[in-house]
Amino acid sequence: MNLFLVIAGGILGLIVGSFLNVVTLRMNTGKTIGGRSHCMQCNRKLDWWHMVPFFSYLFLRGRCDFCKSSISVQYPIVELATGIIFALVISRFGFHVSTIWYWIISSILVVIAVYDLRHFIIPWVPNLLLAIMGFITLFIPSLHFVTGNSWFQIPTMWNLFSGVIIALPFFALWLVSRGRWLGLGDVKYMVSSGWLLGLLGGVSGVLYAFWIGAAWVIVLVLVQTIRKIIAPGLSAEIPARVPFGPFLVVGTLLVILSGVDIQALIQSIGLVY
Ligand SMILES: [Zn+2]
Repeated sequence: MNLFLVIAGGILGLIVGSFLNVVTLRMNTGKTIGGRSHCMQCNRKLDWWHMVPFFSYLFLRGRCDFCKSSISVQYPIVELATGIIFALVISRFGFHVSTIWYWIISSILVVIAVYDLRHFIIPWVPNLLLAIMGFITLFIPSLHFVTGNSWFQIPTMWNLFSGVIIALPFFALWLVSRGRWLGLGDVKYMVSSGWLLGLLGGVSGVLYAFWIGAAWVIVLVLVQTIRKIIAPGLSAEIPARVPFGPFLVVGTLLVILSGVDIQALIQSIGLVY
């Protein structure tokens, strides 16, 4: 893979990431998306060197150049994450239309994850876009995460209903728990990602999400326990709710970027033994 292309993809990702920050902050607030050209606190107009994605945050040490109020750490994190994802996408798909397809899809995924982290809601507009793009992907093997060579196919029944098949048991859980175990947004997301990845890929994405989510909770509990032993006075409790959306997004990205679904995973373990 051409290193220049990967770096260019990463830089594009940093720029897109800074746009996605604005989108997630202004979505459902009635504000228009007009760029971040003023400081949120002192309202002073920012110069270009205050707005270089990721690097300005480092250079300014996380503070406004004028009033020294702190800039949300969300900015550099989202910019860097998008940059890394974009670089990984182009290093996987190369100079191919799939790269642009998955750049758009990963931008939608970043918005969903960040919005869910902030508001505990998976926003319906990006989720609907994801569902539409996922449905289109079913018909175009060249755009599938395990890229085929043809530009049209009639999907199998399993793949055509993959989103619904995957989401149905979780919809039942949502009904039974009256939305306490997972949100309806999570269920709808599973429909979108099921279409995007096909039945096997979609199941894999959800399973990866549960594994990573479980690992995350275990790490949180461990950190908490260790902190209580070392400094009993400083006990910040584990957050009562952890949004599931970001884990679903990471699971989806893992499938897209690695191209490894559950079947491939089991086969590779089979080779080891
Ligand atoms: Zn300021």
